[in-house]
Amino acid sequence: MIKRIVLASSNKGKIAEFKAYLRGFEVLSYGEIIKPFEIEEYGNSFKENAIIKSRAVFDRLNDKNAIVLSDDSGISIPLLNGIPGIYSARFAGKEANAKKNLELLVQKLKEANVERADAFYTAAIAISTEKGDFSVHGWMYGKAITDPKGDNGFGYDPMFIPQGFDKTLGELEASVKENFSHRSRALKLALILLKTLTKDKR
Ligand code: IMP
Repeated sequence: MIKRIVLASSNKGKIAEFKAYLRGFEVLSYGEIIKPFEIEEYGNSFKENAIIKSRAVFDRLNDKNAIVLSDDSGISIPLLNGIPGIYSARFAGKEANAKKNLELLVQKLKEANVERADAFYTAAIAISTEKGDFSVHGWMYGKAITDPKGDNGFGYDPMFIPQGFDKTLGELEASVKENFSHRSRALKLALILLKTLTKDKR
């Protein structure tokens, strides 16, 4: 029987990446089942925020057989004391969007008088089931640049050059990013967890 995974996200970019990776599972966004609701991310780490999201959706679904998966992710620049980190999605303020966030990060790099700096993406994936809350992590290292390029990917991708490449994630194909992204790496571990958690139900 094909297992159904509910994603605790309304982010289209993330949902597309999850669907591509979790082939073999039926993957749908929680917004396709219940009315989307505001989830306050009050945690102090990617892991805490991921669990807050998957738990909130699991509780709201009211289905003890549900398997809810969430991701909390972001980009960090050590030279700038780790910003934007867990604040990546709302870096430019409450009304932030991907373009404003990226522009602000480019501006911060310019203010530090650098054209490129070490950067890394983190993804924490949480899975909530009736058995509890579980989490795994993945990372992707590279450089953040002040001259964004390309329209592929989402968020900060046009300003991120992954290690071993000379193009940004905005220029590289999605299938290339899927090979080594923070989310793919975390998902690889999440798949092991998912198999264990669903074992006795297959
Ligand atoms: P979250 O939805 O609260 O986890 O916020 C994640 C934010 O981090 C996104 O809105 C993006 O700004 C950024 N982010 C996370 N993963 C990626 C990625 O793969 N590419 C580009 N930006 C990302």
